Amino acid sequence: MDTSLVLYNSLNGKKETFKPIIPNNVGMYVCGPTVYSKVHLGNCRTFISFDLIFRYLQHLGYNVRYVRNITDVGHLENDSDEGEDRIAKKARLESIEPMEVVQRYTVDFRNTMTQFNALVPSIEPTATGHILEQIELIKDIIKKEYAYEVNGSVYFDVIKFNKDIPYGKLSGRNIKDLIHNTRSLEGQSDKKNPQDFALWKKAEPLHILRWPSPWSDGFPGWHLECTAMSTKYLGTQFDIHGGGMDLKFPHHECEIAQAESIHKKSPVNYWLHANMLTLNGKKMAKSTGNNILPAEMFSGENSLFKKSFSPMVVRFFMLQAHYRSIVDLSESALVASEKGFQRLIQGLSKIDTLTIGDKSTGFDLNLWQNKCYSAMNDDFNSPLLIAHLFDAVKYINSLANGLQKINKTDLNKLSKLMNSFFFDVLGLLNTEKTQTEKGNQKLDGAIKLILELRNKARSSKDFDTSDLIRNSLSELNIEINDSLEGSTFKIN
Ligand code: AMP
Ligand code: ZN
Repeated sequence: MDTSLVLYNSLNGKKETFKPIIPNNVGMYVCGPTVYSKVHLGNCRTFISFDLIFRYLQHLGYNVRYVRNITDVGHLENDSDEGEDRIAKKARLESIEPMEVVQRYTVDFRNTMTQFNALVPSIEPTATGHILEQIELIKDIIKKEYAYEVNGSVYFDVIKFNKDIPYGKLSGRNIKDLIHNTRSLEGQSDKKNPQDFALWKKAEPLHILRWPSPWSDGFPGWHLECTAMSTKYLGTQFDIHGGGMDLKFPHHECEIAQAESIHKKSPVNYWLHANMLTLNGKKMAKSTGNNILPAEMFSGENSLFKKSFSPMVVRFFMLQAHYRSIVDLSESALVASEKGFQRLIQGLSKIDTLTIGDKSTGFDLNLWQNKCYSAMNDDFNSPLLIAHLFDAVKYINSLANGLQKINKTDLNKLSKLMNSFFFDVLGLLNTEKTQTEKGNQKLDGAIKLILELRNKARSSKDFDTSDLIRNSLSELNIEINDSLEGSTFKIN
């Protein structure tokens, strides 16, 4: 079986065979959420994409150290170097401590990820917990003369850096175009050039999120935290760095420049970028209001969809697209995923009920297994894997109908593979109620209501009605038992 994993590397736009720096070990860093509000489904898609990647790497036997940070300082409005810190702004608006904002939305994020059955990363460092590391990095960059201090703030000198090491490798932007396209700051900023970015910002007197540093009481820049935390936990060169496509520029480009300015080598071997979830054809985003929260989806309390969708259906829907494709959220697509998911679960639960034959017919299990692994080895092609799982369900159905046969060894193998792809690799759970279970629930509710009506009739001495109910139910093989505690029923 071919187990060589191929990844699409955003750094060069090529699919490359994955070779970790230390055999059997993988270091993976993924930019985590900025915890100033509830995560929307778009954010969740990126984290579910990397959960799939984390799971599959582990499934292949790699020992993965997965670091996903929590951004709790330094991410300013509009992703720029000016404007208010997102967390501080929320704290001001709600008159609470910034750390209360952080706590509230970190908890919300973790709970949401648990609902989606995403595995917990190996380390979840916070930016505020790594201020010292960030200050040390700035000192190093200043020492290498790629950063300068102005009025207590420190900026990365992109033009100077680009003279020695090319800037723009990841995003494909070249410095000339950047200069051409950025508006001059006309003395409004301390920066030498508009392309420069902040490593440390001096805090205004009223700014609450502040720490002492050699340059001023202030706070670190957003790009710096990821360089500090990835280097600390994964080293100066590590295997995989991930995040949403929208972080490629400037965030990840700046991370590369920061690390290269100190170590003179590329910090990351494989850059992986997950594509966006859209709603009505537009990127789902907090700032535009074009978004839906996971809880609104699960409860059905939203104005977008007529029905609710469970976390596993939403996860399945997302995995039915490749992580590098754009996905648009729509009711019809979700309904189709819900049906598909039910079909998969029904197939899975039928495996244990199949009769064993003396030989297998109608399905090449080894070929199927290879196809499943080839799909995932080709840059984590989960939609193709799911299509193969549906092929297996068809086979399971024809086994159940007696149209094909399976021997004991093959049945064990099929069961093991189906279960491991469904639960371990795709990270799905069998929490869905089947149509029959749903039907049973409704029937129970209806009978309880009839019993209540019968009790009412009995207490008003309307024995004709109460007998009619008992006899009619009895004809349907539903037996009523009256006791001092009340009436119960049994469906025979
Ligand atoms: P933020 O909290 O804004 O730093 O974003 C957290 C993560 O969600 C980042 O990796 C973003 O790239 C990702 N993200 C934001 N919007 C979307 C979207 N519409 N679809 C997929 N990922 C997104
Ligand atoms: Zn980051």
